This record gives sequence, structure tokens and C-alpha cells, in this order.
Amino acid sequence: MASINDNYLKLKAGYLFPEIGRRVKQFTEANPSAKVIRMGIGDVTRPLTPTIIKAFHEGVEEMAHFSSFKGYGPEQGYDFLREAIAEYDYKARGANISADDIFISDGSKCDTGNIQEIFGSENIVALGDPVYPVYADTTVMSGKTGDSDETGYFEGIVYMPCTEENGFVPQLPKEKVDLIFLCFPNNPTGAVATASELKIWVDYALENKCIIFFDAAYQAFITDPAIPRTIYEIEGAEKCAIEFRSFSKTAGFTGTRCAFTVIPEGVMAFDKAGNPHKVKLLWNRRHTTKFNGVSYPVQKAAAAIYTPEGKKETDEVIAYYLENAQIMRDRLHEAGYVVFGGINAPYVWIKTKNDMKSWDFFDKLLHDANVVGTPGSGFGPSGEGYFRFSAFADRENVIEAMERIKNLK
Ligand SMILES: *Cc1c(COP(=O)(O)O)cnc(C)c1O
Repeated sequence: MASINDNYLKLKAGYLFPEIGRRVKQFTEANPSAKVIRMGIGDVTRPLTPTIIKAFHEGVEEMAHFSSFKGYGPEQGYDFLREAIAEYDYKARGANISADDIFISDGSKCDTGNIQEIFGSENIVALGDPVYPVYADTTVMSGKTGDSDETGYFEGIVYMPCTEENGFVPQLPKEKVDLIFLCFPNNPTGAVATASELKIWVDYALENKCIIFFDAAYQAFITDPAIPRTIYEIEGAEKCAIEFRSFSKTAGFTGTRCAFTVIPEGVMAFDKAGNPHKVKLLWNRRHTTKFNGVSYPVQKAAAAIYTPEGKKETDEVIAYYLENAQIMRDRLHEAGYVVFGGINAPYVWIKTKNDMKSWDFFDKLLHDANVVGTPGSGFGPSGEGYFRFSAFADRENVIEAMERIKNLK
């Protein structure tokens, strides 16, 4: 008899975005003439830039000829890409990361979920509330929790509230924890962490032999030079932090798929007898066993992001989205909302008026303004009463959506 991994039964039925999709579909079927503006899901809208596309095409062309054809590549990624990353994302910022610490993959969603399997089920996981839902769900799938209660909290996960009071940057947990997910710039709140805030976490992790999973998917949106773009700018992080990066939001690769995980030599986890093991070697074992590498043309395209023209073009796209965020911030503020995020981040996070529930605001916005956003409560119970707008939209649509929201009764 086939039995299932019953951790899956603990999961909540609906992932947030399918539920949004269901409600939007229902509305558009009933109102076929409504011009719905989608600012919900965090997906980019601008195409890949010319330099990236050129490299992508060249990579495809190489596959067409006997002399340049490529079969399986290294599972960890091609050296040309790993070296460009080490050089421009890390060494240039004073972070001592080598190409060998970098594992190219097809996405940070998979990496943040897959990393769970190399850590034992007795680990206590801490995560922000609200945050990217993948961390909690994959913690459950990997057997590190009990059941969830009626508010949606799982037994065994330490939730760290991210609220207006703490500026949406979580405080150290009172309980002892082992694995800590941090996401900055944050999805969904758009909050960023300063070097001194990150230093508190790194010191805590070193002292308690914890590992920080640092999701920096939105680092490209940081324009303030004082805000760290990688956790390895913080002293000691190379001994306790794993960093997840993705080209999805950085360069429009959500449909092209390329990301990477950084695990420096010094990051250790312990066996039952208390002996240290290099996490990098465990991840290398997993990655090379279960993954066969990202396609060559895609890695060629990703490497083009690091050329001077590629960098200039992607910076322009990021600037476009950030300008959207600024327009949204201004207009939502004028419309009487309390507004957070949207600076150094592509998400604008607002408080609903009169403590309206997140899903009620979602329905009102959809029905009365034909605008789709994301209910804050979908990212964790502390997101109740908040709402996320994504700046990954066309300028025209952003302006139109904000106008409609201003006129909401
Ligand atoms: C979009 C996003 C990612 C990137 O996921 P990919 O699988 O690389 O597309 C990772 N983390 C967060 C918080 C995100 O919002």
C-alpha cells in the first residue's frame, strides 16, 4: 500500500495566488467588459533587455553546431557565470565569496524550499510574519512542524511579527531557534534592513550556532548605498548565512529561470554527536544528485547581465519599476492610506482604512475599481488589515489604477 508523506495533509488548502486567480476569473466572467488592472502577483512585465536577448540567441545558435554544441553542463553552473557573480555581486562589494561557493539553479523558490531537506526535522525554523509563503509551506513539507491552528500558525514554527511598530524588521526571537529565514528587501512589506539590523542577526546566529537563510531576491532594487545588498557585507555572515539570489526580479527572468544560492565554506551544521559538517558539501551532494544544471543559453543570457551594457539596461528597467513604486506611494498617500515600502523595493504595502480585512479590501478593490492587489493576510496572520501592490506594471496602468483607487467610495 502506498502511503503518503502526511506532512502534506497539514498544509492549508489554498496557496494565495490560486485563490486570487479564482476570484478574478469569477469577476471577469461576470463582468466581461471590465478593464481589470493586475497589480497582484509579483511578476515582472518588461521584456528581457537587448544585450541579454543577444547573448541568449548566441547561446541557442551555439547549440546548433557540431563544434559548439553543449550537452550536460556542470550541475553547479558554468564557471563563466559563477565567476561573474563572485566578481561583480560579491568581491566588488567587499564580500569574500568565491565562484566555488555559488550554485546556479533554476529558481530561488526551489532553492529556498529544497534547502530544507539537508537539515534534520528537529530544527526549529523562525520566519517573518508576514512573508513569502514558500518558507512556511516547505518547512511543513519537510516535517519540521505540527499542525496549524485556526489563525494559520503551525506548531513548531517561530513566527516573528513584522509590524508597523518594528518597522517590519523582526526582532530576535525569545525562543531558541536553529534556522532563520530573513527576506530583505521584503516581500510583501517592501521593508529593507540596515547593516546594524543585520549585524544583530548575524551575531545571534554565530552565538547560537544557527543558520540564516537570507533571501535577497530583490537586492537589485536597493538604491540607497547605506543598505547592504548582500548579507556577506556583514562581518561573520560567511560563517552562518546562506544567501538566495535570483535573476527573476533583477533582470526579468521569471519565465526564463535562473537563480543561485551562495554557501561559503565556513557555514556549518552539526550531527547528533555535535560534530560540525560543511553545509556547502551537503548542498553540493544534493544539487549534483537531484539537479542537472540550468540550460546553457539561459546561463549565457544571465552572464550578459554583468556586462557594462547589460548592467546599464537592467538598471534602467529597475529604475522604471521604482518610479512606478514612487508614483503609487504618492497617490496612495494622497488617497488617504498609510503607506509603507516602495523605496529600495518593488512592493508598496498599505494599511486598509478602518481596519478593513485584507480579503474584504481585495473584493472591494476588484469590484469597485477593477484593480487586483494582494491581501496582506495571505502572507501570514500579522499581514491582516494590510494590502500589497506590486510595482511590476505598465506606467499607464499604474496611473490609471491609482486614479481609480483615489475615486473609491
Ligand atoms: C520572486 C521571489 C523569489 C524568486 O523566485 P524564483 O523562483 O527565482 O523566480 C524568491 N524569493 C522571493 C521572496 C520572491 O518574491
